[in-house]
Amino acid sequence: MENYRKRALELLPELKVLNQYIYDNPELGYEEHLSSKAHIELLENHGFEMELSPLGMETAYVARFRGEKPGLTMAYLAEYDALPGIGHGCGHNLLGTTSIGAALVLKDYVKENGGTVVLFGTPAEETSGAKVAFADEGYFEGVDLAICPHPSDYYFSSGKSLALVPIAFTFTGKTAHAASDPQSGINALDALLLTFNNINALREHIRPSARIHGIVKEGGLAANVVPDRAVGEFYVRTMTLDYMEELLEKVINCAKAGALATGCTMEYEHYEAIYHNMVTNESLSEHYNNVLKEMGIEVCPPRESFGSLDMGNVSQVCPAINPYFGISEHEIPGHTVEFRDATLTDLAMEGMVNTIVAMVKTMVDCNEKPELMASIKEEFDNRKR
Ligand SMILES: [Zn+2]
Ligand SMILES: [Zn+2]
Repeated sequence: MENYRKRALELLPELKVLNQYIYDNPELGYEEHLSSKAHIELLENHGFEMELSPLGMETAYVARFRGEKPGLTMAYLAEYDALPGIGHGCGHNLLGTTSIGAALVLKDYVKENGGTVVLFGTPAEETSGAKVAFADEGYFEGVDLAICPHPSDYYFSSGKSLALVPIAFTFTGKTAHAASDPQSGINALDALLLTFNNINALREHIRPSARIHGIVKEGGLAANVVPDRAVGEFYVRTMTLDYMEELLEKVINCAKAGALATGCTMEYEHYEAIYHNMVTNESLSEHYNNVLKEMGIEVCPPRESFGSLDMGNVSQVCPAINPYFGISEHEIPGHTVEFRDATLTDLAMEGMVNTIVAMVKTMVDCNEKPELMASIKEEFDNRKR
């Protein structure tokens, strides 16, 4: 383990420059041109074989380094998108830099001992995450393990996230003069308002962990014209994909009922990527946490309140964890200016180095201990959707 730390510390000056550069140049999802270029240059300099613009995503990349001897295919995931207004309030500058650091250290091991390191550069985690396309298009076939480390105030175990289906309902009716001839109109806004009411009635009878929340995207243009078009956008979230199927059907029925009551027609579409729920591989997670504990680091149980992650889709196609690493001595909520600025501190650098060591040591142990890998694989094969 000391070798990995030594190597991570050697790389630290280079990693610090990358972290600061991405902090200074925050870019939104799928616009991360400077950030992805900086990642790519660094990885090329270190001898990685690069696949640029995979699946037509200009700011994505896949970096690979294959050892000569056989071994596991071990993946890390990098993110580098920022938030509007506050830049790197989610700390993806540090997230991406940490995964690169781990890939560089693991590369030395793979060169000597075999296996393959794959680093996925995954844009737009905050909006319509690229990991979904990578998972859907088979990029994780043959990947044995995947780790995506997220900065946080403290160290937290990899936990759960909610599956998320974005659904937009469009109602079409008929315009009419709202005062002199309302009987000729078909009110699309009413259909949408009924949909909200129906969903509110449904809400009492859904599982407590599920969430349904929506907005009126379009609701008419003038008060004296019966609206012939209304659009509502909703997020439906559940703990499992199985329950998602059941709940989504009910939500769609709420919209159908609104259309039926008003005489409108209704169409729906998924207007952003569908996120699957995160299934943490507990055997992998436990091993990773034990490595941190050996380093004297306290790891908190998984967070109890969560949203949705595109890492969820990865966790449904290969054994994966999404642990959090600490960069602070006090609580700092994410998506804030305070969190953004914490990503540049000495504590952040310490958190990054510890995490690189844990990410590398975990992969090395999996590569060298068939019984550990067998338990991870068995758990994955028996996972619940
Ligand atoms: Zn975020
Ligand atoms: Zn984030």
